[in-house]
Amino acid sequence: MGENKVVLVTGAARGIGKQIAITLAKAGYDVSVNYRTKSDELDELKSEIESEGVRCALVQGDVANFDEAEKMVKETVEQLGKIDVLVNNAGITKDGLLMRMGKEDFEKVIDINLVGTFNVTRNVIPYMIKQKSGRIISISSVVGVAGNAGQTNYSASKAGIIGFTKSLAKEVASRNILVNAVAPGFIATDMTSVLSDSVKENINNQIPLRKMGTAEDVAKVVKFLASEDSSYVTGQVINVDGGMVM
Ligand code: NDP
Repeated sequence: MGENKVVLVTGAARGIGKQIAITLAKAGYDVSVNYRTKSDELDELKSEIESEGVRCALVQGDVANFDEAEKMVKETVEQLGKIDVLVNNAGITKDGLLMRMGKEDFEKVIDINLVGTFNVTRNVIPYMIKQKSGRIISISSVVGVAGNAGQTNYSASKAGIIGFTKSLAKEVASRNILVNAVAPGFIATDMTSVLSDSVKENINNQIPLRKMGTAEDVAKVVKFLASEDSSYVTGQVINVDGGMVM
């Protein structure tokens, strides 16, 4: 097996997860890319990661399904030997005012964003306890900290990730496993491309840095939390939001 550290990134076929995979490959990690939907871009991503001189595994699975989460973790360990860092990134939105929100749209978002984070983490933790080290980094959102009209389901899931992170950090600190969350603000990806120009302008006016963030902005902070530079940081939520929520 290689000497490189190994990272598993969920929902890494596009957006922020893809950028995290690329950024950590450039930093010398072997990368396991979890994806839900097969696409041609996945093979391109694998080549891009391997061109950094590191190994890449592609592991299919829906994080909301416990058995599939178990399978993606097992396949990662089979192909890359271990898991040093887990990045819980897979997430969706199904926005709407509570008044009009159906139970299905509430449950779907909780199932993927929050239960999905549990499912993958639950399957990774035994390996980290055995190797007496590890990092769990989950992508929350400033909406989980500050709330947002039209996103009760999403903000509940993202606030849940914060509680999950702090509790798990206390449970596994003695095993040398650090658990943190990153709370992005508005980041330019497919998830936010659906917003109209006027909504985007309105959002920019609420951001002290006066612009949306990029996937790279988030990936750089994830890289820090995966690295030795953050060896005394656990149970924290780091906002990456241009100062939107203070
Ligand atoms: P995108 O919609 O661009 O990408 C989401 C990724 O998650 C896709 O690769 C998608 O795969 C995958 N995914 C969705 N559901 C599942 C599932 N059940 N199992 C496995 N993978 C799944 O989103 P972003 O890159 O913008 O968001 C990434 C994370 O960052 C999310 O958790 C999001 O909530 C969070 N975030 C984003 C912000 C933003 O402004 N963009 C702000 C704050 C937080 P598929 O291609 O199959 O759909």
